[in-house]
Amino acid sequence: MTKITVNGIKLFVLDILFPSRCPFCGEFIMWNELCCESCREALTAANDVICRKCGQDKCRCNEKRSFDAVYGSYFFDDENVAGAVYRFKHEGESNLAELAAADTVRHMKAEEMPLPDFIVPVPMSVKKRIARGHNQAELFGKILGKALKIPMRRDILFKIDTKDEQHKHTEAERKKRVKTLFYGGNADLSGKSVLLCDDVMTTGSTLNECAAILKNAGAELVIVSVCAVTRLNGQNSSDKKHMRKE
Ligand SMILES: [Zn+2]
Repeated sequence: MTKITVNGIKLFVLDILFPSRCPFCGEFIMWNELCCESCREALTAANDVICRKCGQDKCRCNEKRSFDAVYGSYFFDDENVAGAVYRFKHEGESNLAELAAADTVRHMKAEEMPLPDFIVPVPMSVKKRIARGHNQAELFGKILGKALKIPMRRDILFKIDTKDEQHKHTEAERKKRVKTLFYGGNADLSGKSVLLCDDVMTTGSTLNECAAILKNAGAELVIVSVCAVTRLNGQNSSDKKHMRKE
């Protein structure tokens, strides 16, 4: 017969009160888990694959970048990752960000990356932030800040209001447009190292522009952390077995 313990009852009650789901496939998971076992095994650990300097699966270090290192935990084009990013972005479902933050911290420590002075989230325009109620880059930044025990600053980078969305443009257009979208405050970042974070890195043009503004303000080191990166070599290791059950 199964022995009933106080702790067992507590866990049982927590599972009923706060049913948790895998951010990728939607399976029910224990309240103290962040994703299910099969997704943990099926998804490619992007941090083990990407070039640490440019953050791409196919190194693009020949193109000039303003950031110094990139940490990305998942490949956006892997099965169910886009869905997890969508739910994080629009519904604030934070398991993906918790997983990515823990993974980033683990890699940074193993690689003896110096601890940044603070975190700067990629900003959202004021209008859009009010409409959505949150900025997912800030949510990720808060979780990263907790894990690394460093503060997050929202007084450094800003974004102008525009209805024209960056993701609707081609890579060449994005590179040109991005230069007009962001601006820095008056902070002097001389000698500072900054952790710049966002939910996804696609071509890297947004993060590159934000990093350039930080460098212009004096930042010595800009490390990027994102939950997911987009593959440039066009392959993906999607596993059809892991469709999200709604
Ligand atoms: Zn799962």
